[in-house]
Amino acid sequence: MCKHILNVQVSIRAPCCKQWFDCAECHAEKETHKLAKTIEMAFLCKKCKKAFRKDMTTYEESDEFCPHCDNHYVLEAKAPRAVVGVEGEDARVDARMLKDDRVKAKENHSIFTMDPDEEAALLDF
Ligand SMILES: [Zn+2]
Ligand SMILES: [Zn+2]
Ligand SMILES: [Zn+2]
Repeated sequence: MCKHILNVQVSIRAPCCKQWFDCAECHAEKETHKLAKTIEMAFLCKKCKKAFRKDMTTYEESDEFCPHCDNHYVLEAKAPRAVVGVEGEDARVDARMLKDDRVKAKENHSIFTMDPDEEAALLDF
């Protein structure tokens, strides 16, 4: 059970090890390697148990519904900066940077929210 996200509604598939995790921080705790970046993230709805994919470069709030059962999976991250699949840095390192005001301002965002910078970096492949 994920202790980083309140009432987690989806699992994500790590593109690096092809395993399902509730969030990027769960991956960081279980695995010793870094979570690989991906443009298209695979999700598994915990309600209807069906998988679906989202393009993370065009991700917005209206996308936070399971396409199969309309389960709303807005994820209120307990810890800020738990951005899924777009951070090159280890999530454990990010968790220690909570004093940063810039990070604090993002606290209420979905963990899937991306910075324009990060989006640009993804598109820069
Ligand atoms: Zn992995
Ligand atoms: Zn977690
Ligand atoms: Zn569903």
